[in-house]
Amino acid sequence: MSNNGLPEEVEELRIRTRAFIRSVIMEAEPAPGHHLTRAKLVELQVAAKAAGVFAPQVSKEFGGQGVPIQYWSSIFQEIGYSPIGPSVLNCQAPDEGNMHMLSLIGTPAQKETFLRPLANGDVRSCFAMTEPHPGAGSDPDALTTKITRTEGGWLINGEKRFISGAKVADFSIVMARNDAHEDSPAGATMLLVSMKAPGIRLGYDIHTIDRAIEGGHSHVHFEDCFVADDGILGEVGKGFRYAQVRLAPARLTHCMRWLGLARRSLDIALDRIERREMFGSKMKDLGLAQELIAQSVIDIETSDAIINKTATMLHTDSKAGAALSSIAKVHCSESIFKVVDRAIQLCGGDGVSDELPLASYLSEVRPFRIYDGSNETHKWAISKRASKRRAADVEAGEKYLADAEHLS
Ligand SMILES: Cc1cc2nc3c(=O)[nH]c(=O)nc-3n(C[C@H](O)[C@H](O)[C@H](O)COP(=O)(O)OP(=O)(O)OC[C@H]3O[C@@H](n4cnc5c(N)ncnc54)[C@H](O)[C@@H]3O)c2cc1C
Repeated sequence: MSNNGLPEEVEELRIRTRAFIRSVIMEAEPAPGHHLTRAKLVELQVAAKAAGVFAPQVSKEFGGQGVPIQYWSSIFQEIGYSPIGPSVLNCQAPDEGNMHMLSLIGTPAQKETFLRPLANGDVRSCFAMTEPHPGAGSDPDALTTKITRTEGGWLINGEKRFISGAKVADFSIVMARNDAHEDSPAGATMLLVSMKAPGIRLGYDIHTIDRAIEGGHSHVHFEDCFVADDGILGEVGKGFRYAQVRLAPARLTHCMRWLGLARRSLDIALDRIERREMFGSKMKDLGLAQELIAQSVIDIETSDAIINKTATMLHTDSKAGAALSSIAKVHCSESIFKVVDRAIQLCGGDGVSDELPLASYLSEVRPFRIYDGSNETHKWAISKRASKRRAADVEAGEKYLADAEHLS
């Protein structure tokens, strides 16, 4: 183990990744609000492969670096230090979550057809869950997109929206409702669908304030879209269970990547207050500036701690890890936003201008309080779990601690 608790080979990869991000990737960053050209992305991905830092989360069998989930954070934070790092190193949402799910529940044939080219950066993917009102949004049970049985497969009908990367995706993982069928329960099912399949139609692109994910956040229409039986991911009727397999780690990796960008924001602020002088002193010696810096350091370190605890838990006890991922998601999304916002404040007018990248970072991290389950949905679940846990303890014989005449 190295001094920071990482196995030697993970620490070695972290150091190599850090050097690659800072020497190669940061030099190639486009101006705020712009994307890398496809040619430049490919060029950088070739360099990342040569440097042995590409797809750290993917198993070696599928061309990645094979880092176990409990150590992803240290590497993802280094990658997230640059807003283009995750795309170049192929650990960006939604591909990264799709790769993780395919590796866990894909059949050997699905892994060859979908995971291998995705892991290699040859194709892109999207994840289609959210629907227009009254369909699935915060409440997945409201899912309206349906699959019905047909000869040799299934027909999908429905409409999705906010589907990140749909415009550039080669395939989608689609969540759809199914009736009870033979020995499969009624519920939700995940399907692997080529974006070129007849019956898929891209609708209009929803313009949001973030830019990091190429391919926008489109509407996608399914009109009698045929998927053969071998396109079912996992088993029919178990989609909600699989969604947790995907969403818990996926929301945690968002925390990891965005925490990297929070660290970058803090460094920008620290560099600024080191040189900026006012009222007869350097900014770094003014108490109110120190308060902002200290709060940001505290937010970063507490986020780092809850991410590490959750990642370890996901490795050892996936149910407890999934519950903890709600807490991590709320804490990190709020803390990271505040760190970037404080950095903007410390940089004055430059902070809200294109002179510095901070304003664009704020636009990237703000939607994180909404996607991957809105913070209110998570807080609702966190509170319900806390009540359930306490009621079970009391039921098991623990003393009831709120005795008062009007409650007994
Ligand atoms: C940038 C971006 C990218 C996205 N990418 C994808 C994608 O790739 N694939 C995909 O399927 N979806 C994607 N989404 C959709 C995202 O998952 C949904 O926006 C999110 O689940 C909320 O659903 P909704 O927008 O329908 O809002 P609603 O369901 O209408 O929720 C609105 C608000 O209700 C509040 N709320 C929620 N639960 C509770 C509660 N229990 N108590 C009180 N208030 C509550 C919250 O404040 C919430 O923001 C993306 C969204 C954004 C913004």
